[in-house]
Amino acid sequence: MYEKITPPTVGDRITFQDGEPIVPDMPIVPFIRGDGTGVDIWPAAQKVFDAAVAKAYGDAKRIVWFKVYAGDEACDKYGQYQYLPEDTLQAIRDFGIAIKGPLTTPIGGGIRSLNVALRQINDLYACVRPCKYYAGTPSPHKTPEKLDVIVYRENTEDIYLGIEWREGSESGAKLIQYLNDTLIPGTPEHGKKQIRLDSGIGIKPISKTGSQRLVRRAMQHALRLPKDKQQVTLVHKGNIMKYTEGAFRDWGYELATSEFRSDCVTERESWVLSNKEADPNISVEDNARKIEPGYDALTPEKKAEICQEVEGILTAIWATHGHGQWKDKVMVNDRIADSIFQQIQTRPDEYSILATMNLNGDYLSDAAAAIVGGLGMGPGANIGDRCAIFEATHGTAPKHAGLDRINPGSVILSGVMMLEFMGWQEAADLIKTGLGAAISNREVTYDLARLMEPPVSPPLKCSEFADAIIKRFDG
Ligand code: NAP
Repeated sequence: MYEKITPPTVGDRITFQDGEPIVPDMPIVPFIRGDGTGVDIWPAAQKVFDAAVAKAYGDAKRIVWFKVYAGDEACDKYGQYQYLPEDTLQAIRDFGIAIKGPLTTPIGGGIRSLNVALRQINDLYACVRPCKYYAGTPSPHKTPEKLDVIVYRENTEDIYLGIEWREGSESGAKLIQYLNDTLIPGTPEHGKKQIRLDSGIGIKPISKTGSQRLVRRAMQHALRLPKDKQQVTLVHKGNIMKYTEGAFRDWGYELATSEFRSDCVTERESWVLSNKEADPNISVEDNARKIEPGYDALTPEKKAEICQEVEGILTAIWATHGHGQWKDKVMVNDRIADSIFQQIQTRPDEYSILATMNLNGDYLSDAAAAIVGGLGMGPGANIGDRCAIFEATHGTAPKHAGLDRINPGSVILSGVMMLEFMGWQEAADLIKTGLGAAISNREVTYDLARLMEPPVSPPLKCSEFADAIIKRFDG
């Protein structure tokens, strides 16, 4: 079945049903060790995963690891430019869940980025990045512990998809001409706008399908969180880009209030429902004043529109959401992208899951990671309906490779996400406890050691950090 790899002879496949994994007690999990410092962090991380699973479940559960190849290691095994062999893609499809270390971005050979290729080939449409603070981690913020968000970033479309034409190219010039001569004049709302002839052009497709499947995953995740964290915020620039970013917001609300109607409440609905007087039997206009600040100054048309909205809310969900029942539902709201960048800093504890399009999510996840102590500790996952890949978010840091000094925290935390996704919460919790205890006891690798006050000297090696985590599974 495979050209150069042989799957383990024991263990079973993870399969997917309705986008959720079905995990046997002895799942086979393919892993990509990673280039550069992958040689250091993967063995350290694997030791932590195995120890946590053994402590949590004894002999009842075990991960059977299956080594597959990508990046430089794949070229060594499969030949020049074979950065992403078919064997690896097939193994990920066959076994459902995989985990990877960092990969060098290939120079030559036609692949722009292995990570992007892996996501696109497997249609891993949700990039998930939790940003949570571990006590003791050096952070530039005064209260980093207040931020505990998970960014759900759409992975397959938006300007980031890379459909672009270079300035001066024949196709780019044709497209500009067609837009200037035909499409823009044919759309009255664009007025007399024209695109400069010396422009590069990028296309920003945002689809209803892509937006709604991302928001669906974010909602499903919210329902698994403790009650006080059950919130999904749709992040967008819909005030400027109505038909792409604004549509993402609208489709998000539409999905939430249809597929998850009994489990969710929108922020606007909660404003109506939280009005003590709210009741289908009393004045709709009084309720409308609650939902729309400055109601009395509005035009009659606008007032009528709002009254209709309020009446709709009361008719549709008063029975199921009224009398305070809405407080037990997943709150769905939206924020303009620039405002959420401020708010994760000024009011971090007001947010939980941030659902975003691709480009906004790229910026936002790194900004949130910086608040809780930087990218070195940031885990990530790319999830689709048939498979999922968990990964370290930093690069290969080649100058540290083979020195047993780099921080394995990012790949270890991506393993925590993997265990949680598999439903092996007990093992995940042991690792989180061990990691938190090691950091707060100042048992850290060089990168954290140099930022601590006072600096830790000497720092732990990569392998010693793994041992410290295991030693502190009980806190
Ligand atoms: P990088 O590998 O992330 O390293 C940049 C710096 O970040 C390192 O020199 C180190 O800083 C710090 N760092 C990274 N990982 C760390 C860890 N585990 N523990 C502590 N510190 C860590 O970025 P790069 O040098 O720009 O990229 C190198 C290669 O990785 C490129 O080929 C790039 O394309 C690729 N890359 C891959 C991924 C991925 O696979 N997900 C992501 C990004 C980049 P100090 O030296 O100051 O301590």
